[in-house]
Amino acid sequence: MVVVMQERASEEQIEAVIERLVDLGMDVHRSSGASRTVLGVVGPNKIDSALIQILDGVKEVVRISEPYKLAGRTFKPNDTVVTIDDVRIGGDEVIVMAGPCSAETEEQVDASAAAVKRAGAKVLRGGAFKPRSSPYSFQGLGEVGLRMLRDAANAHGLKLISEVMDVSQIDLIARYCDIFQVGARNMQNFTLLRELGHQQKPVLLKRGLSATIEEWLMSAEYILSGGNNGVILCERGIRTFETATRNTFDISAIPVVKKLSHLPVVADPSHGAGRRDMVAPMARAAVAADADGLLIEVHNDPDRALSDGAQSMFPAQFERLMAELRIIAPAIGRSICLEPVARRGWA
Ligand code: PEP
Ligand code: MN
Repeated sequence: MVVVMQERASEEQIEAVIERLVDLGMDVHRSSGASRTVLGVVGPNKIDSALIQILDGVKEVVRISEPYKLAGRTFKPNDTVVTIDDVRIGGDEVIVMAGPCSAETEEQVDASAAAVKRAGAKVLRGGAFKPRSSPYSFQGLGEVGLRMLRDAANAHGLKLISEVMDVSQIDLIARYCDIFQVGARNMQNFTLLRELGHQQKPVLLKRGLSATIEEWLMSAEYILSGGNNGVILCERGIRTFETATRNTFDISAIPVVKKLSHLPVVADPSHGAGRRDMVAPMARAAVAADADGLLIEVHNDPDRALSDGAQSMFPAQFERLMAELRIIAPAIGRSICLEPVARRGWA
């Protein structure tokens, strides 16, 4: 339920409504805008909305039909911007996160980080804990990989995102990374999501391989209801009957989710397509569809990558893509890192 207070509601009236709701066993999340206060009410009990409607200062009580509340636009109409220092995800600028699927060696991580920075990425991606279909495949370097990634991110002035697969990895990953990545296979690992709800750092939540948009938003709700407002959604392709691509990249999910939710939506065309020759067209389409950012696999030597080499772009391909995005983004009123960094003399 959402309680919309009157424009002139006093602080005492707002506090009294909150107190009543808390007495009824509910959690109340307050959102105060310039002109009015909105209370998001969640909890185990079914409340008679008429009891709230009659309280002083209440304008309206909206029963929400969607099962998610904190993730929905009814509760928070304005876009959420997730901020990490000067990087703003969900604002005007399209933020590009790029790097290898996995951290493999210091040289590989550093060369990939240098390449993505040069082309205009703001965030380095790279896995140290890898969710592989086979237990015999490369599983990631763990803390050694995290250190390589952090060093490269620092050396090249990038933020860092890396995947967390289990509650036991949270503290370690928090020490090295700026953003937690929850992979498609863990979208419904509710124990993990609950714990991430208590973290200070933002969480990029990928859509599960066979998750509906509602299930995806319910998973975001787990994180938000723990108090962590920094949730970024990431469309990465879903399982369908089609076999021509690794997954079916659901571009329509971008405008659908942006309508339902205030959270930033990022697109991962690498896992969506599964082939490096199809990543650029999907990335261009995602930006045209108003994605707030991209997550792209780029490797300095993708043909020798230990994971996801076939879908990892060569640095030159990525640079070309970024140049194309600099044309597409302004066409829909968005900005993107304006020029390759080297040409601005920043590198
Ligand atoms: C990844 O980003 O490398 C990854 C494993 O992604 P996903 O969870 O989307 O498969
Ligand atoms: Mn990958």
